Amino acid sequence: MRILIAEDEPISRRLLENALTKWGYEVVVTKNGEEAWNILQQENSPNLVILDWMMPGMDGIEVTRRLRGRQQDNYVYIILLTARSRPEDIIAGLDSGVDDYIVKPFFDEELRYRLKIGERIIRLEQRILNLARIDYLTGLLNRRAFMERLEAEVSRANRTRGDLGLIIIDIDFFKRVNDTYGHQAGDLVLQDFAKNLTEFCRGYDFIGRYGGEEFIIGLPGTNLEECGIIAERIRQQIETSHTSLDEEGVFINVTASFGITAMEKAYPYTTDKLISAADNALYFAKNSGRNTVKNYKEIVNK
Ligand code: GH3
Ligand code: MG
Ligand code: MG
Ligand code: MG
Repeated sequence: MRILIAEDEPISRRLLENALTKWGYEVVVTKNGEEAWNILQQENSPNLVILDWMMPGMDGIEVTRRLRGRQQDNYVYIILLTARSRPEDIIAGLDSGVDDYIVKPFFDEELRYRLKIGERIIRLEQRILNLARIDYLTGLLNRRAFMERLEAEVSRANRTRGDLGLIIIDIDFFKRVNDTYGHQAGDLVLQDFAKNLTEFCRGYDFIGRYGGEEFIIGLPGTNLEECGIIAERIRQQIETSHTSLDEEGVFINVTASFGITAMEKAYPYTTDKLISAADNALYFAKNSGRNTVKNYKEIVNK
């Protein structure tokens, strides 16, 4: 786990860094509040932070106030490390929003165990966050988490004029699977389906369960043509694979219909526009006989 430290005093900084490194942490070292705050605003910055209280410029309390004042996904666990040891100081420190307070000079073992508490809380928090973001059946992002991510990617693509592909997938005649084999078998099919999607996407693509038997994939940096190639590959994989039920060697085959779209040159784009274009393409794929990929430019009124 990574820890960010902010300490203006060179010897204390060194001692702290050495101790943390010895315990196996990866340490991001800063010398004052400004440096710490800058790093904490970056993506994937450490969730565990040790701040000195008194530093020139922005002090540890100010960094804490700013951190607590912002809207953010991940919780940052803050330990305030300071020479101030009067009870009123401790109260003021804790009141600023830090999670823990340690008086300098610190005892190695005490700090070590307090860090373990911090790690435990961060892990718990990440588990709760995951429970709220992940679809229980398939392990994919749920609809809300997918939409949040899509919003972020759409604004990034607008900002950078980058491409962003979107694929909406709906399993064909899925109701029949449930009607023929039962709801539990249907669930297994959905799980296998999700696995296939995961296998055929790249690490930076993001996949969600959009509804019951509807799935959705966001593909950063992907134009409409590339998106079509990927969708077609997935379509073929789905068509040729099956879910086997243990009893009596029953195999269930499904196909799916795909609607695709991409943000290319026509900026600015909105998430709603992107979704509805892919949705219309999917509707067209269904009307064109299912088990096919259609993009929004191919839509013709029959
Ligand atoms: P189409 O080709 O037009 O998409 O036909 P379809 O039968 O797939 O579409 P329809 O919307 O009529 O039916 C979707 C079915 O998906 C109905 C619903 O019971 C089933 N379903 C939705 N969520 C789940 C789930 O979590 N598990 C199971 N087993 N079935 C589900
Ligand atoms: Mg200081
Ligand atoms: Mg459907
Ligand atoms: Mg369907």
